Amino acid sequence: MNFVSSNKKWVAGSATHWVSALLVFVCSALGIAVALYEWEAYRAAMGQSEQTSRNLAASVLNEVQESLQQAETLVSLIVGTIESIPTWETSSTTAVLRDVILERIHAQPMLHEIYVYDAGGQLVVSSYTSARQENSALQQDFFDFHRRTARDVLHIGKPFRALPDGEWVVPASRRVNTPKGAFLGVVVAAVSVKHWQASFQQLDLGTNGLVAINSHDGIVLARYPHVESAIGASLKDTPVFRDFLSRSVRGSMRAASPIDKIERQNSFVHSTTFPVMAIVGTSTDQALSAWRSKAIFSFIIFGFLILLIAVAGAIIHRLLRKQSEILLQLSSAHRRSADMERALDEHALVSIVDSNGQILYANQKFCTLSKYTHEELNGRDFRITHSDVHPAVLFKEMRRTMQQGQVWKGELCERAKDGSLYWVESTVVPFLDKNGKPLQFIEIKTDITGRKRVEVAMQQAYKQLDQSNQRLAALAAFDQLTGLPNRRHFDEILDSEFKRAHRSGQPLAVLMVDVDYFKQFNDLYGHGGGDICLKRVAGALQRAERRPGDLAARWGGEEFAIILPNTNNLGAKAVAELVRCAVLSLYIEHQGSPLMQLSVSVGVNAIASTEVGDAEELINGADKALYQAKKGGRNRTHVHEASKSHISITHDAEARRKKLIEN
Ligand code: GH3
Ligand code: MG
Ligand code: MG
Repeated sequence: MNFVSSNKKWVAGSATHWVSALLVFVCSALGIAVALYEWEAYRAAMGQSEQTSRNLAASVLNEVQESLQQAETLVSLIVGTIESIPTWETSSTTAVLRDVILERIHAQPMLHEIYVYDAGGQLVVSSYTSARQENSALQQDFFDFHRRTARDVLHIGKPFRALPDGEWVVPASRRVNTPKGAFLGVVVAAVSVKHWQASFQQLDLGTNGLVAINSHDGIVLARYPHVESAIGASLKDTPVFRDFLSRSVRGSMRAASPIDKIERQNSFVHSTTFPVMAIVGTSTDQALSAWRSKAIFSFIIFGFLILLIAVAGAIIHRLLRKQSEILLQLSSAHRRSADMERALDEHALVSIVDSNGQILYANQKFCTLSKYTHEELNGRDFRITHSDVHPAVLFKEMRRTMQQGQVWKGELCERAKDGSLYWVESTVVPFLDKNGKPLQFIEIKTDITGRKRVEVAMQQAYKQLDQSNQRLAALAAFDQLTGLPNRRHFDEILDSEFKRAHRSGQPLAVLMVDVDYFKQFNDLYGHGGGDICLKRVAGALQRAERRPGDLAARWGGEEFAIILPNTNNLGAKAVAELVRCAVLSLYIEHQGSPLMQLSVSVGVNAIASTEVGDAEELINGADKALYQAKKGGRNRTHVHEASKSHISITHDAEARRKKLIEN
């Protein structure tokens, strides 16, 4: 039972934990799935952006290379022309050169200008003039480069503001040599930065997009959007150049621009033909904006879903918890009820009887006491254990009580299977249906056979005690030798008779009877003989009792007393004579008496209730009369002097009295 309840508790408790864990798992899994999906979307967006910037970088580099290629072709043409004409610095030659330049420049709009410098750095000819000018190229890096380097390569120099309009240009230059290889001057094609920028503007870079053309050594040649201070600036010492741009021929990186500090997804590619690189950057904000809005939407949906799951989870958790509490309560109630049932089974006989009186269930104690098995009891009539000890009316009353839906209680004697009887204290509780009709009865009985046995034993003991008490009372009230009431009993009866006489106003008489010369009798016939004699005298006295209220008692020794209710002196004296004669009639030999037979003397006292104060006086009067009888010679009756009717009867009158008695 305890195992089951604890198991239920565990199941109930763990169910809520499982649900919580499942919800956390589902939410986590959903969260991870959404995060993974968004991470993939992010990577795709970034990849897309990178791909775009990489393609754009390649395309930009192509265009730049084309420009430089054209510039190189033109520069090479002019260098070749100059080197083939020894007197190229003459005005006629420069005029021809200028025509060539003008013709080409018009055909190639990306070329802003062509400059031809002599070995001294003076401008010999350009597209806008053929006159020699003092505009010295000595300050320009390309001039210095070509003067010091004999290599025949196209040099890309630092951008500068071109004359005469001050527009930014990138110099693409070559050295002019004498036939012996000495430095003769420099031909420069000034590539229009503005032209490149206009071309970059056509690209769909989005907001904050960037296109930059740098030289291999980190000089910014052109930039879109245009930043004045950036053109010609060196990025050589910036981390971006150091860590990315100078490290490989092409690549991508996410980095903030050293110029405008905007973070972009950048792709760069170096030209293998010219010492330049193209960099295209798309703003990460821009690249991720579509992804971000989708991600925000996804997270909102996900958040809402999580919220829904959390709310549903909380509700389920609460319901489960409630259910678990109810289960626990049920379990503990069930345990309590099972414990109580077990305790009840230990103590009482329990049976369930249906409305037809068939036993549905009987517990083990019932079986043990009734000696029937469960199988023998189940389905049988509940009266199977009834004995014929009780009257039918008892069961009628029991049925009537239960039909009314009331509890019946009582003690029953039942019969076990082996015929033995046992007693139970029974409580029958009826359970009613919704119509108030008995559905079933539960009878709880406690075995009181032991108690009943004790009760019977007690009753017997009480009976015996009563008998003993009666015997004791008899012992206390009666004389053992004669069987007559003793003096104590006599006093009680006399007292009550005296009071009765006082109430009723009837007379009351007392006789005091004393055996004459009894001492001598004892002496002559022994104490045993004396006892036998006393018994016979007592028998004679008892026989002399004429009325139901008359009472002869042993007063003490050989003295007897007789109460005669409702008797006056006259009547009492007659009874006294009867007594005396009755003793004489016993004819007990007494050698010590002058009569030679046993006789008694009788003192008589009778009063009307109003005359004497108490019973003692009545006795005293009788005693005095006895004394007088003794004094008068014994074997006689003497009536107390104070009595109104004083009659002395002598031996002479004895015969007359006998006759009277016989009559
Ligand atoms: P009187 O005629 O004057 O009555 O003389 P008495 O000898 O009868 O009287 P007394 O009082 O001198 O003697 C009474 C005797 O009764 C004395 C006593 O031993 C005897 N007695 C008293 N009770 C019993 C008894 O229960 N059994 C026997 N056997 N004798 C008893
Ligand atoms: Mg005496
Ligand atoms: Mg005597």
